[in-house]
Amino acid sequence: MLKPAFMRVDLRSDTVTQPTPAMREAMFAAPLGDDVFADDPSVNALQDQMADMLGFEGALFMPTGTQSNLCAIMAHCQRGDEYIVGQMAHTYRWEGGGAAVLGSVQPQPLNHQADGSLALADIEDAIKPDDAHFARTRLRTLENTIGGKLLPHDYVQQATELAKSRGLARHLDGARLFNAGVAQAALRGTDARQEARRIAQCFDSVSVCFSKGLGAPVGSALCGSAEFLTRAHRIRKMTGGGLRQSGMLAGAASHALDHHIDRLADDHALARRLAEGLSALANLRVEQPQTNILFVDLEGEAKARAGELISFLAARGVLATGLYRLRFVTHLDVDAAGVEHTIGVMRDFLAA
Ligand SMILES: *Cc1c(COP(=O)(O)O)cnc(C)c1O
Repeated sequence: MLKPAFMRVDLRSDTVTQPTPAMREAMFAAPLGDDVFADDPSVNALQDQMADMLGFEGALFMPTGTQSNLCAIMAHCQRGDEYIVGQMAHTYRWEGGGAAVLGSVQPQPLNHQADGSLALADIEDAIKPDDAHFARTRLRTLENTIGGKLLPHDYVQQATELAKSRGLARHLDGARLFNAGVAQAALRGTDARQEARRIAQCFDSVSVCFSKGLGAPVGSALCGSAEFLTRAHRIRKMTGGGLRQSGMLAGAASHALDHHIDRLADDHALARRLAEGLSALANLRVEQPQTNILFVDLEGEAKARAGELISFLAARGVLATGLYRLRFVTHLDVDAAGVEHTIGVMRDFLAA
């Protein structure tokens, strides 16, 4: 019997969140100017808030995380430079090759370790000597969280020392920096903002998404020194990212920073509950989630029927992505009832 799909649980991504009523109010109430004239008070307030929180000279509001990362790479690098990056990193794999296409900056991708890190020895080996045969190794990017994993902070510090000693600039794709902060704070018994700042301070520039778990409809911020941001600002304009009354969007982002950081812990708890529920079912290999992203591998009979699973779930109101390896992402618009429903629907599929 098909259960009625009255419950809709969208676990495809934490980008699908709808602005809450309070966030919509904040957007509506935000005072506006024209950010290309640098006089939108809500954008300026957001940029100051972000810079203060993470300990940088400034921040630039960006339409997307992709544009934010692109501006960062292009502001750090010249034509003919290269950046060291992970094979699975957003800044290499998921941004349309923008750094190469638009910046003439060559990526040097490295394989990840099981914990998502790039081995220090691999980074060291990838740095090219000053020789006309090679691109100039100029930048190293990391991502935290990566695939939902928190990079160990000791590692981040060691990678920082290595980059500094070799004269490389350091950029963090911190799309989910506050998920990392919340997870790290839970490990250390500290505060999420403090941990986000501690991570961010290991980098010259940091990009953070408001449109993921923080629940804003649009936007990212790029943080760095004033001199770096002057370059990034020019590239943002050049790539069509100069926005006008963007204070409406900045209002949503400021609301998210004020109200939606600590609650990321709820998303992490729901991901753990989902993992626990699914672990009890046969033919699934469930990775223990560290934050809000859960990966589940189908095995045996379940794997043989993998092609039917996504549509089976969707018919019962559960949206997820993947084929043999499913990805479930918890966020602001997923609750405990949705997680229990998802576990039940997965049980039904495996029993069918
Ligand atoms: C979502 C995301 C981005 C930016 O994506 P946009 O859709 O361009 O905002 C960058 N890095 C990571 C790791 C992401 O998950």
